[in-house]
Amino acid sequence: MRDVQIFDTTLRDGEQAPGAALPAASKLAFAQALAELGVDVIEAGFAAASEGEARAIREIATRVEGPTIAALARATDADVDAAARALAPARRKRIHVFIGTSEIHLERKLRITPIECIERTERAVRRAVEHADEVEFSAEDATRTDIHFLGAVCQAAARAGARIINIPDTVGYAQPQEYAKLVFAVRGALASFNAGLRVSVHCHDDLGLAVANTLAGIEAGAQQAHVCVNGIGERGGNASLEEVVMALQVRREHYQARTGVRTERLVPTSRILTELTGIPVQPNKAVVGANAFAHASGIHQDGVLKDAGTYEIMAPESVGWESRRFVVTKLSGRRGLAARMGELGLFMEGDALDRAYALAMRRGDEVHELSDRDLIDIAAVARRRDPTVPAPASFETAAS
Ligand code: MN
Repeated sequence: MRDVQIFDTTLRDGEQAPGAALPAASKLAFAQALAELGVDVIEAGFAAASEGEARAIREIATRVEGPTIAALARATDADVDAAARALAPARRKRIHVFIGTSEIHLERKLRITPIECIERTERAVRRAVEHADEVEFSAEDATRTDIHFLGAVCQAAARAGARIINIPDTVGYAQPQEYAKLVFAVRGALASFNAGLRVSVHCHDDLGLAVANTLAGIEAGAQQAHVCVNGIGERGGNASLEEVVMALQVRREHYQARTGVRTERLVPTSRILTELTGIPVQPNKAVVGANAFAHASGIHQDGVLKDAGTYEIMAPESVGWESRRFVVTKLSGRRGLAARMGELGLFMEGDALDRAYALAMRRGDEVHELSDRDLIDIAAVARRRDPTVPAPASFETAAS
């Protein structure tokens, strides 16, 4: 079993999602939630972006205990110095230096030659090493970079003192097998450096493959993953922290890897982020979505009541939900209805349950999901001996 470090970048790449920028007080509150969650590294921000951003990083560096605190810097003296200043109070600090390495980034964005790219990398990493406990280097747009040049830049960064080499799929372009090969190739290029070197993955969801690519990279030997809570991030978002962590946990025997994340904090942390950003989580989101542990179909409800393992690969409590949820719809069965009514204190059996079930199915044809009010009214009607007795007014209203 090997350790995979969780590098949370919700407060840096996540914040680059439209609408996700946070004021300093919110950043600090979320960083504290991340420390409680048990991530290894918190990327607190991009110090050179603004005065306020630098102050927010400094505040997190001062007050948050536990994880390493990281700050992003372009490969320039000014950026590295800004990151170093903001991180100064942190107990463990990491400067994260990046530079574009693909042809399109070199030619069209940075307008520099490959040689200049390597020189800038070496200079920035050397400067960062003087101010931080560890330096991470990212070859931006690595997945669209010539493989030989990528190897050369990563070697230059490692020679200059970077301890973590990150291989970003900046634009969400890679496919899982291809990305695994790339991670493997970079590890090969770095094989002559000592064992303390970590290879890291950073994936985006433009094609919905961020988590798949992250896991493929881990299978290929990466020892760190960049992730964001709720999968927020630029464009389609970053790899989702909760999905990567739970895939590694649920399929431990497959990945032979573990993280230090306290999984029962996943749902609370997701909720804190939603509250701070106002960005809701889609209901069908894995692990933290409202429907992640909801069962509506009769066949599934019956199975889960007999043995939760029939339709659940993890316990809702293990990721911080209070319980699984039974939803009554037209697809539900008698046992699911009885279980849901039992939760409301409405204990039904025998003929009364049969009548309740018939009424619930009628109501289910009219609505997406029966409300608690519907179920209370149905129970009241179903408990009468004679089903032809007219329903109480509230039920008529609800059913109309
Ligand atoms: Mn990114």
